[in-house]
Amino acid sequence: MELEDINTVAVLGAGNMGHGIAEVVAMAGYDVNMRDIKDEFVQNGYEQIEWSLDKLAENDQLTQEEADATLERITPLVDMGEACGDADVVIEAVPEQMEIKKDVYTELEDVAPDRAIFATNTSSLSITDLSEFTDRAEEFCGMHFFNPPIRMDLVEVISGGHTDDATLDVIEAFAEDIGKTPVRVRKDVPGFIVNRILVPLMNEAAWLVEDDVATIEEVDATTKFDIGLPMGSFELADYVGVDVGYHVLDYMHDVAGDRYEPSPTLKAKVDDEEFGQKSGKGFYDYEDGDGADVSMDDDLFSETVKERLLAVLANEVAYLVGDDVASPEEIDTAVKLGGRWPKGPAKFADEYGVETLANTLEDAYEETEHPRYEPFDYLETVVEEGGFYDDADEEDGAVEFDTIELTYPGDKVAQIELNRPQQMNSISLELIEELDAAIDLLEDDDSVRALLLTGAGSKAFSAGADFMSIAGGGADPFEAVELSKHGQETFGRLEEIEMPVVAAIDGYCLGGGMELATCADIRIATSRSEFGQPEFDLGLLPGWGGTQRLQRIVGMGRAKEIIFTAERFPAEEMAEFGFVNEVVEPDAFETAAHDYAAKLAGGPPLAMRFTKRAMHKGWDNHEAGLEVESMGFGHVVNSEDVHEGINAFFGDDDPEFEGK
Ligand code: NAD
Repeated sequence: MELEDINTVAVLGAGNMGHGIAEVVAMAGYDVNMRDIKDEFVQNGYEQIEWSLDKLAENDQLTQEEADATLERITPLVDMGEACGDADVVIEAVPEQMEIKKDVYTELEDVAPDRAIFATNTSSLSITDLSEFTDRAEEFCGMHFFNPPIRMDLVEVISGGHTDDATLDVIEAFAEDIGKTPVRVRKDVPGFIVNRILVPLMNEAAWLVEDDVATIEEVDATTKFDIGLPMGSFELADYVGVDVGYHVLDYMHDVAGDRYEPSPTLKAKVDDEEFGQKSGKGFYDYEDGDGADVSMDDDLFSETVKERLLAVLANEVAYLVGDDVASPEEIDTAVKLGGRWPKGPAKFADEYGVETLANTLEDAYEETEHPRYEPFDYLETVVEEGGFYDDADEEDGAVEFDTIELTYPGDKVAQIELNRPQQMNSISLELIEELDAAIDLLEDDDSVRALLLTGAGSKAFSAGADFMSIAGGGADPFEAVELSKHGQETFGRLEEIEMPVVAAIDGYCLGGGMELATCADIRIATSRSEFGQPEFDLGLLPGWGGTQRLQRIVGMGRAKEIIFTAERFPAEEMAEFGFVNEVVEPDAFETAAHDYAAKLAGGPPLAMRFTKRAMHKGWDNHEAGLEVESMGFGHVVNSEDVHEGINAFFGDDDPEFEGK
């Protein structure tokens, strides 16, 4: 079967995952038969799809016509024959119990056409075992979506022991066609990729507490604010459901041995039915509505915790790579998308040093004699090779960016262009990550002596933070704090980079875009450019250092004027304020920008480095300010005022804020 042969897709189960999968598939233009065992279940799923499509239309992510057409393509059904009799692909999302799935596949085999491919959304059962309930094990694979399917881009496409490559190829193409990023899991290993990384992480965290190496508070502060993962390890367990993590772990324990023995700390939580967010209490208390309160206090950071967690992750990655389940790149892509990590586990391990982590494992194994620290064979090869990634790849210029462009336009000058002209070069999480990676490259490159920062197109340098990725679709305050922190860190790195940075601004330079320009040493702008910090119009605050840097350049009075009024300021006025160093006419802009960067690149690099460092050192310590800023951002992002601001923005109205 080829992708073009897929027209009708049957989804079995209209629960949590099934209805979401049906929605995503129908949005891509396929006819979908959604089947559940009772009319009320299937209707309930259908209503949830309807609600979700309306929301997407409300947020301008779909037109109302597209939403209506999507719903029309979905047929809710109870009869198995009707649902699957003409299906090209059947995606099974019924409860995670072998017996139920067995019955479903037996019934399905009787009614489905021979050409149909069967794909299971199981999170933890063996694909091979499931395929053996059918007569088409070669045309059977895993298609593991993440919750909620509408928002999570990753789909793990998993090979069972009997699956044909052609089956995986077509399901991968299908996943891409419905707008997802497929990652192939070449072997049917327990946990596949994402859970194989996340579940041992939760278990290791629990063992560290069990063994009195650290407290929950210390483990989570270290995980979240020292390592930089999106959640603390225990916070993650509560979020996923301690029982769900435990269940996967228990299965891994059965199939893959004692290294996955669940920590008694986890088991006790499950026995006490303290499952986390969904039951109101887990490692944190959710009943008072506060959620997990992970401390940012760096006194709580523990190097032992960091090393042990990263060592366990590195070991799992080594297993997956060594056993040819997936490559380091594929593993990193999967975990970044499925776990929302800023970097993948292979990258984390490389950056920390795989040799150090291998030693950590050995020492911990000696100390505890617990098999979870036993290194997988392939880790030795990784250590010999100096890491999971081959650095040469990056030096060859093989690093490709999607949202920025890194070029070397002149002698000793590098240029980073924000490259999302269709979105006014707005700043998304991906852009921040790519900027961070570009800074890594520049820091290691002695041949570059100045950096020019520009925006693609002639409308905007950058019109601000990517609105939808921050406040759209019910932002999670934790994510908002993360986004704020990642932006703060990356912008901070740009400010601190040891070469001079020139921001060349043509068009809008607003919000997060202006905050980015504020990190440059010099700003030149075309006369038609407009500046401003419009965050207050949305009930938000300038979250990427905007509350800290601007006053240093224009003085506290002007900074407050710019932020509090949320008005637009023309380039000439910004030059009077001292923010813009030079205003030029649009036709002279490009040359002026390159000349300025070239002039600075010709300066003395050492003197430059120390001068810049000394000038920055002289500023007050603003860490405390940044912390307050990112907490504040998390505080307001789901407030009624932000909702009001966003609605007013889309409705072209004046917002009325109530301070709620
Ligand atoms: P769910 O309980 O919300 O939904 C399962 C649905 O299947 C129910 O509506 C049930 O009535 C229906 N069902 C039962 N027997 C059926 C049958 N014979 N035919 C058709 N429908 C039947 O469960 P869920 O969370 O949607 O999980 C479904 C599958 O997806 C499981 O295998 C689970 O492991 C996997 N999964 C879940 C998540 C998650 O976060 N919830 C994520 C990825 C994968």
